[in-house]
Amino acid sequence: MKALALLSGGLDSSLALKMIKDQGVDVTALHFTSPFCRCDGSKPCGFSAKEISALVNVEIKIKSADESYLEIIKNPRYGYGQNYNPCIDCRIYKFKSAKKIMEEINALSIVTGEVLGQRPKSQQRNTLFLIEKEAGLTGLIVRPLSAQLLPESIPEREKWIDRSKFLNISGRGRSNQIKLAKTLSLKGFSCPAGGCLLTDPSFCKRIKDLLESNMFNLNTINLAKKGRYFKLSNNTKLFVGRNEQDNEILKNLTKNSDIILTPSPLIPGPTGIIRSSTNIDTADIKTSAQIIARYIAPLNPKTDVHIFNNINGKITPLEIISSQLIDEQNLKLLQV
Ligand code: SF4
Repeated sequence: MKALALLSGGLDSSLALKMIKDQGVDVTALHFTSPFCRCDGSKPCGFSAKEISALVNVEIKIKSADESYLEIIKNPRYGYGQNYNPCIDCRIYKFKSAKKIMEEINALSIVTGEVLGQRPKSQQRNTLFLIEKEAGLTGLIVRPLSAQLLPESIPEREKWIDRSKFLNISGRGRSNQIKLAKTLSLKGFSCPAGGCLLTDPSFCKRIKDLLESNMFNLNTINLAKKGRYFKLSNNTKLFVGRNEQDNEILKNLTKNSDIILTPSPLIPGPTGIIRSSTNIDTADIKTSAQIIARYIAPLNPKTDVHIFNNINGKITPLEIISSQLIDEQNLKLLQV
C-alpha cells in the first residue's frame, strides 16, 4: 500500500510514520509550514521533519500555507479555541490539502500521529470524525497510536495494513510515546509544543490588531513575528528589529510604500519598518524616529535616524532626522 503521512516533526507524528513504514508501506511524508509555526530561526523551517524522514528513509514533501489559510483564521466555521486558534478548521484545511497530494501520488490513505483525547478541541472522538468527513476522507485516515480505540479504517478493514500492530494510546500524557520512541530507536523529533503561535496570548494581541486594521496578510504577519511591534494608529504600525537577524528579515520583507528607518551607517542599532493600510503621515515618521533613537542610543538626548522610502522596491533616502527619544510611558503605550 502507498500512504501519505502527515509529519510535524514532533513525537507523535514521527512515531506514526515509523510504525507505518515498519509495516512495509510505501510512505511519503508531508510537512505543513505556516507563518504561525514556532520556528525560532535557529534551524531551517521543517528541520525536525526533514531529520525524521531521513532517519526513517522516506521522501518528504513540504507544503506552505497560503493566503487561503488566512481566510479560515479570519472566519473559522467551527470557531476559535482559547485564542485565535481555529483548530478544527485548520485541520480540515490541512487534510483537504493532503488529500490532493494523496491523489497526485496515488496513495490510498493518510496516516497521522493523532492521539484520541490529546487536544481539547481537534482530537476528541467526534471532532476527529467530523474533520475526516469535512475533508472528504471518511475511512481513509489511519491513526496508528490510537487505532485500537477507534473504528477500523478502510486500509485496516481491507488488511492492507495490520491493525494488531497498532496501539491504544489516549489522553494528554506522553510517557507511552516516549517509551515507544526508545523501543523504535527514534530520535531527532522536536519537543512537544503547546500548539502554534495562534495559541499564544501575547502574539494574539498582534493578530487581533492586524485583523482590526485590515492588515492581516502573510507578509505583514511575518513582520509581526519579528522584533517589536508598535501600534502608531489604527492603520499604521512600526516593526522594529531586536538584533541583526531580525533587521535583515525586516529589510527583506519591506514592500512598496513602506518607510524604513535605520541608524547612521557604521552605528549599530535597529531597523524599523513603518507600514500603513492607508497613508503614512509625518507624525508617524516623527514618532517612529523617536522610538528608533531610543534603541540606538538611550543615553543621548538626540540621535540621527536615517529615513528611506520604498518606491516599487527601490529604497531611496528621504531625510535624516536628528530625533529626541520617546519617553518610556509613551513607548509602553504604543507597544503591542
Ligand atoms: S494549534 Fe495551530 S496548527 Fe495546530 S491545529 Fe490549532 S490552529 Fe492548527
